[in-house]
Amino acid sequence: TTRRLTGFKPTGHLHLGNLLGALRPLIAAQNDTVSIAMIADLHAMTMDHDPAEIRALAMEQATVLLAAGVDPARTPIILQSHVSEHTELHYLLECVTGFGEASRMIQFKEKSAGGGPVRLSLLTYPVLMAADILLYDIDQVPVGEDQNQHLELTRTIATRFNARYGETFRLPGGVRPDAAARVMDLADPATKMGKSTAAGAGRIGLLDPPDVIRRTVARAVTDEFARVRRHPEQPGVTNLLNILAACTGREPADPVSYGALKREVTDAVEALLAPIRARHAELVKDPAHVREILAAGAAQVRPTATATVRRTRAAIGLLN
Ligand code: ATP
Ligand code: MG
Repeated sequence: TTRRLTGFKPTGHLHLGNLLGALRPLIAAQNDTVSIAMIADLHAMTMDHDPAEIRALAMEQATVLLAAGVDPARTPIILQSHVSEHTELHYLLECVTGFGEASRMIQFKEKSAGGGPVRLSLLTYPVLMAADILLYDIDQVPVGEDQNQHLELTRTIATRFNARYGETFRLPGGVRPDAAARVMDLADPATKMGKSTAAGAGRIGLLDPPDVIRRTVARAVTDEFARVRRHPEQPGVTNLLNILAACTGREPADPVSYGALKREVTDAVEALLAPIRARHAELVKDPAHVREILAAGAAQVRPTATATVRRTRAAIGLLN
């Protein structure tokens, strides 16, 4: 069976884009793929961070993953930092990665461009991402455009290591999510909906109450065309139609007006999120249960991680 890794960074509240683009495909594939759902808390510390906030968000994301339907019996939910092999393999992989290679990463250039202090971990995090993937013999990594270059780097590092020190790593491929599963920001449909987008006015959180959802959709940017259709010149309306189709699972019968479209989107999003909100309200009462699931997830994946690190240590010249 195909092995897949999906990661979520605890840098903010999970949103509709995370659900439609990552979480729902993960849940849908639970029957025929072996998936690991990873909360990438180490990756959330490459930029200025608040310790209490990371902890709280990691727990919240684990709880939301469960509420959305990730079944821990089939899909281990892990905190990256609970399996220390991630950091051990990270170091070993740094020893086959060039400084130039890491500095050429577009995300590093973009995120370090501000002129403020830059953490060394921001430079090396693509190597940690390579470790996350190679640790579990992953075949498929769902990647958005922004992570393409990092997956390429993972393949480069793995290929180089295998060539130099003997066959050690499985080469992962990417799975490109459906373009329609890419949710754009409702207030700024030129950019994707994101956890760490500053404003947040165009983001639908998975735990948003109904009135907040209604307001966010009501304020969504549309245009002057007054035509409900998907069109490159109408990114806002296109996004609403995509969201409606994704939430209901079918092509919408043409809503007559933007007002009608927004009402349909509001209802469809609410129908999708209401059960998640309700299950979350139950699960959040029992954090100890969620902690147990995280501990069990780590225990379940650790043997594979340990084996990979042992193999890597031996190949690179360390005494096991
Ligand atoms: P950040 O802004 O901190 O990068 P994010 O919203 O991009 O947060 P990630 O934790 O980076 O979220 O990504 C989690 C998963 O959700 C990834 O698989 C990513 O491809 C997917 N994803 C993120 N944003 C969207 C979106 N707007 N539409 C569809 N999928 C998305
Ligand atoms: Mg992201």
